[in-house]
This record gives sequence, C-alpha cells and structure tokens, in this order.
Amino acid sequence: MGHSAVKDVYHQVGEKLNELEVRAPMNLYLYEILKEIFNSREAEIFCKMPFSLSTVERISQISKIEIEELKNILNDMSSKGLVLDLFVNGENQYSPSPMVIGIFEFTMMRTGKDVNSKRLAELFHHYLGDETFFSSNYKNGERISPLRTMPYEDAIYNGQHTEILDYEKAYAIVEKSKKFAIGLCSCRHEKHHTGDKECDIKLDTCSTFDIAADSLIRNGLAKEVTKKEAIANLEHSYDNGLIIMADNVKKNIFFMCHCCGCCCNALAGLSQFGYPNSVVTSNYIASINEDYCVECGTCVEACPINAIEMVEYDGDSKPKIDEDFCLGCGVCSLQCANDAMRLVSREKRVLHPENTFERIILQCLEKGTLQNQLFDDQSKMSLRFMSGLVGGFLRLPTVKKALMSDLMRSRFLSMMQSGIKMQGKGWLLEL
Ligand code: SF4
Ligand code: SF4
Ligand code: SF4
Repeated sequence: MGHSAVKDVYHQVGEKLNELEVRAPMNLYLYEILKEIFNSREAEIFCKMPFSLSTVERISQISKIEIEELKNILNDMSSKGLVLDLFVNGENQYSPSPMVIGIFEFTMMRTGKDVNSKRLAELFHHYLGDETFFSSNYKNGERISPLRTMPYEDAIYNGQHTEILDYEKAYAIVEKSKKFAIGLCSCRHEKHHTGDKECDIKLDTCSTFDIAADSLIRNGLAKEVTKKEAIANLEHSYDNGLIIMADNVKKNIFFMCHCCGCCCNALAGLSQFGYPNSVVTSNYIASINEDYCVECGTCVEACPINAIEMVEYDGDSKPKIDEDFCLGCGVCSLQCANDAMRLVSREKRVLHPENTFERIILQCLEKGTLQNQLFDDQSKMSLRFMSGLVGGFLRLPTVKKALMSDLMRSRFLSMMQSGIKMQGKGWLLEL
C-alpha cells in the first residue's frame, strides 16, 4: 500500500476514535501513535467495525471480510487492546477501543519485544499531556467521565458511615467479584519511560474484575490474581496515599485504578488543566474541623491534586479546601494526625450511572456521538444518513441539556433500554 493510502487509513482510524464515547482529537502525535500500534489491515478493520459490541459473524457481514481471517485479526487486535473483547451472552463480542479507557491503557499495559513502549510513552505523553484532549471532552461542563472517585471509608465522618452504599466501598466491590487481574498502571508505566515518574509507587496496580479481568487475562494484558492479592493491592493504595478511582457505574464495577498525583493523566485533567469533571467526585467532600486543626499543613502535601492550600487568616496560616476541585477521596484525612480533616456528605448526590450501558449512552450524549451507537452499522448509506440526521438533532445544546436533566434523563434512558431490547441486545443491559 502506498504512503498516501496508508496515511488515509490512519486518519480514518483517528476519525472513528473521535466518534466514540471519549473524544480523541486528531493531531500529529495521535497519527504517529496509530501508525505505531495498528498495521494497515487492522486499521481498515477498525474503521469498518460497527460501533457497539458485536459478534465476529456480524462484523464479517458488515465489513465483508471473511470470518476466518477476521477472527485471527480480531484476536491479534484484542491482544494489543485495539478492540475490546468481552465474553458475554455466551460468545466473544468485539467493539473498537476508545482512547480512554482503552487504547492508551491497554497499549501501556503491554510488555515484551513486540511493542516499542518507550516511543509510545513519549507519544502518549505529548498527546494526553496537551490540554486539547481534555478540552475536547470536558470544556462544556460534561459530567460523565469513565472514572469516579472512591472515598476511603475510614475518612468518612463518624455520623455519616451508614450513608455509604456498597458501590462506594472498594473492599465490598472486591469481595463481591469472582475473578481478579492486576496489570501495569499505564500512567506510571508511561512516566517511567519518559523519565517523569517522581514517585516510587510500583507499576503493577491496575485492577480488573470479572469479565474485564477475563478479557485482560486471555489477551495477556494482565495477570490473574487471587482475591487476597486484590485486597492486598487495595491496602497498598491505602498505605501509599493513592486515590482509588473506579469504573463510573454502580453495578458490575469492572476496574479500579490506584492513582498518584504525579503520574496519573486523568488527575492531571483537574490539577493541570482545570477540568473538574475529568474524574467524577464521590458523594463526599473534605471538611476541616477548625477546633482540632493545628495548622500543620500535612493535608496540603497529601492531597494528590493540590486541592488544599494554606491561606493567611487573622495572622494565622490555615488550610483551605478548593471545593470546586475536591474529589472526596479522603487521602488528606488519612494523613491528618489530629482528626481535623474528615469526609462529609455532599449536599446533592452525584450522578453516577447505573451500569456500563447507561454510562456509555450518557457519555456519548454529552460528547455528541450517540448517533453512532444508535446506528452502529455505517456500511449502509441509509443508516449513515439517519445517523447524520439524528446526530444533528442530538448535538443541539438545548436537546442535550434537556435529556441530561434530572427530569428527563431516566425517561430517556428507559426509552434507550427498550430500544436495545427490541434489537435483541438486551444482554448489553447486564453489563
Ligand atoms: S488512571 Fe491511575 S491507576 Fe489508572 S493507569 Fe492512570 S495512574 Fe494508573
Ligand atoms: S493535616 Fe489536619 S491538622 Fe494539619 S493542617 Fe491539615 S487539617 Fe489541620
Ligand atoms: S482535599 Fe484532596 S485529598 Fe482531600 S478529599 Fe479532596 S481531593 Fe482528596
């Protein structure tokens, strides 16, 4: 294939990536990343795949690629994390990987001679270290990120312990899961190669559960571990003041991140670029009891996103929390020796989607890409036309705002659920 044809297919991959639940704006760094991780046949298949999870048979029908060849290529792409490969509804289902959580994480979870981790780390460092990536996803106040903050239970103000729900308890999530895997933390692995890793936190901390663990184990991207090891991994985070972030859903939580302020790209969205929703908060917020505070400043050092600063007040230097940015993780509280810092309930509960289906629908609605999930086979002109038409309507700011409102959102989501059941894909609701 000549140079210009190859260039075209990588641009097309970039365009498709940008149409998923997380926007991935094209630039020179993304182009180089795509050329490094996809061969031209894989790139072509990525572009022809339907947007949502599908069997090999359906992908073959839509892409007009023969099943045997497709199976082999999809398996190779799964082992590189270029497609998501989940065993659900009794068979393997594939969909294009978004940039996050997807291509970035899986690429930087890879090890071995067939991947140039150093070059990819440099490229991702430029790509995700640029504000454009975050502004493309969060500049309009979008509320649904793939990650939500888990509160440390020991940091919660005594009187409010009973309010914490199971989906907010890291240990309860691990206890409930049946299969466990731990892989490399992609952000720390990236910073390790670029020379920007300031912490001495180990690399193998990223946890996945159940069908996500199964997929990463099958594809050689993470190692199977026992429940005991998964719990020890949580304890390691607790001891090292890491923020625990989970899959932003209430049911079937498939992954948990163990993040440090120096390496984590998602946290940089807040601390460097000022987009508070690049990680969704917990239902808690840090609060200082001035009667106990000795103004030592330990919490300022402990907060991984610099949401606390010492300010001069009445001749004293006192800690002040930036409430627009506080994630409600409780890391600061665990370091306060005087019991002066606690997590308290936020006045209004935070929007955390019920399940993965709901999260993806809401992410796509906010990003203006929902039409691609609704008309996911774009091989037919009529469906492309419908997608364009519906997309134009759904992207109207007033429509988006109305559908995301508390009043309309649940009605809209139940309409989407009925639609998906009518398409015979009711199993997606179980994810
Ligand atoms: S989000 Fe956190 S745990 Fe996940 S890869 Fe980045 S730093 Fe590591
Ligand atoms: S660590 Fe505790 S005592 Fe020290 S400044 Fe922070 S809240 Fe006050
Ligand atoms: S102030 Fe910082 S460490 Fe404390 S809960 Fe908020 S984000 Fe977490």
